[in-house]
Amino acid sequence: MRKEETAMYPDVQLLIAGEWRPAEGGRTIDVINPATEERIGSVAHAGPADLDAAAEAAAAGFRVWSRTSAHDRARAMRKAADILRGRADAVARLMTLEQGKPLAESRIEILSACDIIDWFAEEARRAYGRVIPARAPGVYQLVVKEPVGPVAAFTPWNFPINQVVRKVSAALAAGCSIVVKAPEETPASPAELLRAFADAGVPAGVVGLVYGVPAEISQYLIAHPAIRKVTFTGSTAVGKQLAALAGQHMKRVTMELGGHAPVIVFDDADVDVAAKQMAGFKLRNAGQVCISPTRFLVQERVYDQFVDKFTTALGRAKIGNGLDEGVTMGPLANERRIPAIEGMLADARQKGAEIRKGGNRIGNKGYFFEPTVVTGVNRDMRLMNEEPFGPVAVMQPFAEFDEVVAEANRLPYGLASYAYTRSARTANAIAAGIEAGMVSINHVGLALPEVPFGGVKDSGYGSEGGSEAIEAYLNPKFITQAGL
Ligand code: NAD
Repeated sequence: MRKEETAMYPDVQLLIAGEWRPAEGGRTIDVINPATEERIGSVAHAGPADLDAAAEAAAAGFRVWSRTSAHDRARAMRKAADILRGRADAVARLMTLEQGKPLAESRIEILSACDIIDWFAEEARRAYGRVIPARAPGVYQLVVKEPVGPVAAFTPWNFPINQVVRKVSAALAAGCSIVVKAPEETPASPAELLRAFADAGVPAGVVGLVYGVPAEISQYLIAHPAIRKVTFTGSTAVGKQLAALAGQHMKRVTMELGGHAPVIVFDDADVDVAAKQMAGFKLRNAGQVCISPTRFLVQERVYDQFVDKFTTALGRAKIGNGLDEGVTMGPLANERRIPAIEGMLADARQKGAEIRKGGNRIGNKGYFFEPTVVTGVNRDMRLMNEEPFGPVAVMQPFAEFDEVVAEANRLPYGLASYAYTRSARTANAIAAGIEAGMVSINHVGLALPEVPFGGVKDSGYGSEGGSEAIEAYLNPKFITQAGL
């Protein structure tokens, strides 16, 4: 069974000008299954000629797509969503093979991608302009929304489809074409997403897909005169480099970067609910999520109780190959996550932290890592400052409201934040006091297509959800006209 699954993994190609093709010179990169460390396939490695062809195709695609009505664009997009829905089971297997997450999580990611496509298709039909009252009779002042142009998108390996679909859906809905540089580690499932658009009849060049050396591709595409907008999801360090490059070429930018999400548990909270919800969310995608709850700030009176309950809930994880029935947490998605997390834990231990649970790699085949709870932390530890991007939770008690807000806002990150309290007054105060793009109180309620998704400070700018996400792909044009 397992052998057959691996055998069905494809050699992934580039999508350029509506055609699936190998890279110039036939260069490829190996794809590894993180649960077994086996090579399961390969992905085409684009060179400059491929990238040039992809950018030119996007320019040609834009000329057609920007003149297609929002109504017709929406129809093609909804068809793509239906096609992908029909293929969800097969695509989920590819995603689990290449990324490691449990099959159920892969399936949810794909079905929610279809929901995202449908939502953006409909929303863009309401990308209204406006009429501004004029100062003189007979003058009409109009604001119309025009698509920005061909887009270059760079997406990471943690959500191989979700990270792509938000960008592709908003861009296409607005009338833009897009070239995606999807992750080389997890190439097959994003290729299936774009295949659904191609099979739905989206014209050649409207969606393109390339893989290769990320830095080479971003340098080439961001500077390319055909590209008018850049959107990136990934680490803050890389985001700053790409934003600087985009600035040199005066390209519009959306940046969805790292986080270090605080979870504030007040002593009037429902501790059972907080522990259960946050443990489940910490395990999702083995913690490799930019909005994963990481810094747990718990009010003194309920600190011990919360740590116990959270640690027990985390202990219920069934860790294994994501293809196996009942597995709730797969391996880390790539080999370099293991030393990255081990390094942060070693630093914490050396500075006096206690590893309350976990802390180690599991076995030596596959990139499995124990769900980990760290207590006795201080601000000098790397874990309190750097995104662990793994199944690691850090616990710290606090006494007063002002103190916890200061700690939550101490880091340069400001993406997601969470709070638990039964007091409406505390909930309002925390919502106002936290420097973050998203605040989720007493439940996990982020990342639906219709709500804004994005950060502040070093977590980036722009939104990947809600009507704000479509605005990112539109330019306002002002037209004023006097009567003859
Ligand atoms: P990384 O910083 O090398 O890469 C992050 C992502 O950016 C990858 O998808 C990579 O392909 C891409 N990338 C890297 N350099 C690039 C360049 N010059 N041009 C274009 N794309 C480029 O690190 P990594 O080992 O892949 O991931 C580690 C860290 O990245 C994590 O600890 C986390 O902080 C961050 N990350 C964030 C997200 C997110 O959802 N915001 C997703 C994945 C990784």
